Amino acid sequence: MSNEQPKIPQATAKRLPLYYRFLKNLHASGKQRVSSAELSEAVKVDPATIRRDFSYFGALGKKGYGYNVNYLLSFFRRTLEEDEVTEVALFGVGNLGTAFLNYNFSKNNNTKIVMAFDVDERKVGTTVGGVPVYHLDELEERLHENIPVAILTVPAAAAQALTDRLVAQGIKGILNFTPARLNVPNHIRVHHIDLAIELQSLVYFLKNYPSPS
Ligand code: ATP
Repeated sequence: MSNEQPKIPQATAKRLPLYYRFLKNLHASGKQRVSSAELSEAVKVDPATIRRDFSYFGALGKKGYGYNVNYLLSFFRRTLEEDEVTEVALFGVGNLGTAFLNYNFSKNNNTKIVMAFDVDERKVGTTVGGVPVYHLDELEERLHENIPVAILTVPAAAAQALTDRLVAQGIKGILNFTPARLNVPNHIRVHHIDLAIELQSLVYFLKNYPSPS
């Protein structure tokens, strides 16, 4: 994130890529302005939150006009440092890891998986989705400071030991897809995405709170 901007609250920052993607599509379709109601409908965030978020971006919507799409886009581009690609390493080339490698994120994002690691000799030495797969033994040799982010799609039992090695190697952020809760020093950021829990909680909400609106 750029330092010249005022600090954006974390909850707002998390929604930034969502807004950005939608505004890029709007721009591509030739739209010059957008109302908070339209945005709200598209990204499923309530209009009051959108107005508050956008006030942090220095974008003040005008009544009957809405927000200027070009202004917002240039703000997002600067803030998300679109031109600068952040390199990512992926650990565990199983079903989930393979899906991420094939998808990669570079199409409309500023992150790119540049290398993967596994312990399975049948996978080591191959390329998946154009990304080379190395043996985990090569972690310290291959993972350099220009790769600040790791995605974990290893079995849960392997996650903590791997995390300790990543921390020792200077990793800054971990996107953890394993069910394991990771212990890391305070300066390391971990985002945990447990797909099984998310699915379970969705089913719970469907059963107990049918029909959102
Ligand atoms: P997924 O959970 O992604 O669907 P899977 O069911 O195919 O994968 P898992 O047993 O979860 O397989 O393992 C995911 C991948 O992680 C496998 O390719 C496995 O070889 C690899 N793996 C296991 N232990 C480690 C480790 N310590 N470091 C890196 N990769 C590992």
